[in-house]
Order: sequence, then C-alpha cells, then structure tokens
Amino acid sequence: KTILDVQNLHANTQSTEILKGINLTVKSGEIHAIMGLNGSGKSTFAKVLAGHPDYTVTQGNIQFEQQDLLALSPEERAQAGIFLAFQYPIEIPGVANSQFLRLAYNTIQSKRGNDELDPLEFDDFVREKMKLLEMNPDFLDRSVNEGFSGGEKKRNEILQMALLEPTLGILDETDSGLDIDALKIVAKGVNHLSNAQNAMILITHYQRLLDHIVPDYVHVMEAGRIVKTGGKELALELEKHGYDWLHDDRHNNV
Ligand code: ADP
Ligand code: MG
Ligand code: MG
Repeated sequence: KTILDVQNLHANTQSTEILKGINLTVKSGEIHAIMGLNGSGKSTFAKVLAGHPDYTVTQGNIQFEQQDLLALSPEERAQAGIFLAFQYPIEIPGVANSQFLRLAYNTIQSKRGNDELDPLEFDDFVREKMKLLEMNPDFLDRSVNEGFSGGEKKRNEILQMALLEPTLGILDETDSGLDIDALKIVAKGVNHLSNAQNAMILITHYQRLLDHIVPDYVHVMEAGRIVKTGGKELALELEKHGYDWLHDDRHNNV
C-alpha cells in the first residue's frame, strides 16, 4: 500500500529554489535511505514533508495515505501520522521529560480520537517502550533536552517516535558527530519500530548508519533532486567510491 507519493516537488526558501523536482514513492513496510552531500537539500525535503513554515512549495504534489498533504497544517500532518525527529528540538528547563512526552502523546491521541493517558497509565506505557528500546528510565526525570548529550537527544527522539507510532517516521541525521552507541540506539529503534503497516525515511550523510539498518531503497540527492535510486548496495558503492562516482557512472551509462 502506498503511504507517501511525492511528485515533481519544487520548494523555495525566500526566493531561492532548493528542491527542484523530487519524485518519491514510499510503500508500507519499507525503509528508504536518502543520502547526499551537505547542501543537497535532504533536510529541506524532510522539513517540507513536515510542513515547516520556512519553505514554500511552488510546484508538484504530495499524497499521504489518500490525503493531499500540502493542504494540511504541520499539526494536522503529525496527527495524520507523520513524525519528523527534530520537530521539537526545544530545551525546557524545569519540565520533566515524562511530562513533556505525556503532553505530546496525549495531544496527538486526543486529536486522533483516542483516549488520553493519566500520569500513572502513561508511566507504565512509557516504561514498557523504554524497556523495548533498552533505555534507562532515569531519563524520564530529567528536564526536557536540558543538558542532554547528542546521543541522549537521539534516544529521546526515538522514544517520541515509539510513543507516537507514526505511519511515516522521518529521521534526519543532521548530527554527523554521533558516536557509535547513539547510532546503534537509532538503528535499534528503527528496527524495532518498523513493521508492515508503517514506513521510515532515514536521511543520512554517511553510510555507517546503514551498517545497522538495512534499507529497501537508497536514494541519492544532489542539488534538490533524487539523481539515483538503488538497493542497499548503493550505499556501499558510495562509501567506497564517493559521490563523484555517480557522475562517472552517468557518463558510462549514456
Ligand atoms: P542537506 O540537508 O542536504 O545538507 P539542506 O536542505 O540543509 O541540505 O540545504 C540545501 C540548501 O538550501 C543549502 O544550500 C542551504 O544553504 C539552503 N537552505 C536550506 N534551508 C535554508 C533556509 N532556511 N534559508 C536559506 N537557505 C537555506
Ligand atoms: Mg540527500
Ligand atoms: Mg541536512
């Protein structure tokens, strides 16, 4: 079943065109990796999917589960089942992470027409998810993102994703300085949470994340377009030969 269908997507920030005709179809059960050099438009694409106000779509369309995604506000997209890590990159001193997570969870659940959880019910629910992800429950008592290391912020994002159970999870690995433990947390989270009903888009500059997650498709972005799509072996080829190799390949194919 098709979850996401992006056709000829063009988007600007201020008056500069950044996305220049993206086509991408994502079906349920699939994991897609999007790779590409810095500045190729990967994060912009993720933010446009989530409805970030800095970007204006000028052409193309996006269907998300039979809905016109571009007609929905960022909040409606989240309710509809899109999750972008880094949507909430805030630090809130004095607010316990457990409170923050429960608020985020209940807001989405009530808008989806589901029951909210009281603090005790939520505590059971979140601890169960944390056990699954092998996360330390001490984390719940800390202030939201305050003093979190890069790895802890990642863990928190994965936990948010586990709680919200999105149909489409989008992870943008903007932090290239992640240590191997943090990468493993991300990988474990994605591998646990991915199932036949949902899909994941992993945006990564480096191949190393894909040592731990096996994507169904690897796409390479360049100057606001997807210029090549392949299977998991494409990531290995890129790691071995670098992004310039794509251009050699294109010449060879012509
Ligand atoms: P990537 O994630 O692949 O590194 P980005 O999507 O962050 O690429 O950026 C693509 C291009 O768009 C870059 O040239 C970047 O400078 C520009 N860009 C992205 N967001 C903005 C913005 N909010 N304002 C101005 N330029 C932007
Ligand atoms: Mg890319
Ligand atoms: Mg980026």
